[in-house]
Amino acid sequence: MKIGVLALQGAVVEHIAMLRSLGVEAVPVRLSEGLVGLDGLVIPGGESTTIAKLLIRFDLLEPLRRTIGQGTPVYGTCAGMILLARDIGIATQPTLGEMDIVVTRNAFGRQLDSFEQDIAIPVLGDALFHAVFIRAPAITCAGPAARELARLDDGTIVAARQGSLLVTAFHPELSGDTRMHEYFVAMCAAARQDDAANAVHSRHADSADVLTATDYRPSTIDHRPED
Ligand code: GLN
Repeated sequence: MKIGVLALQGAVVEHIAMLRSLGVEAVPVRLSEGLVGLDGLVIPGGESTTIAKLLIRFDLLEPLRRTIGQGTPVYGTCAGMILLARDIGIATQPTLGEMDIVVTRNAFGRQLDSFEQDIAIPVLGDALFHAVFIRAPAITCAGPAARELARLDDGTIVAARQGSLLVTAFHPELSGDTRMHEYFVAMCAAARQDDAANAVHSRHADSADVLTATDYRPSTIDHRPED
């Protein structure tokens, strides 16, 4: 299992350390070549305007969109969430725009208004998750394609999933709780299994004596954890 961490700016080493602690091969990604052969990609928190500028400068926007289009799971935390959103209400700031969420940057105020809160994230089990919010964005609207995974006490949506895309407004790499990363690694493992199943199907489809056309169907089994 090989997961890349987009390493243009922001909390890169923390994600790499947490993924490695789970036994995953975690690698920094700075060039489009680095996207090849990944089972998943983390877009870390940092400064979304800076990361967006660097994505353009290093010609990474289209390769990243292709990677997402191929079904490779991507996890955006904080600035990474901003970069995945379809709408951030700022026409001049480019995003990948792949996820059906509307996001407000700096929704809780400035750096001094950063905070921590124990929140319920039902897909991670019953124990609350200690979430660290640093000049965090908020999801003002999720869906219909995206599904919310967690809210703050005041109802603000702070985590969501859409198929192979996962976002959190907070920084799970700073809390010492590995469950959010484990959840993402499980998404990557399921996507890998789906790929392998589809590859077997298409190999069989090539040899007419093995399967008839009616026998051959793409995998309809969803191996992903319930979302
Ligand atoms: N406020 C930052 C932005 O708008 C995000 C902060 C973070 O990633 N911790 O990009």
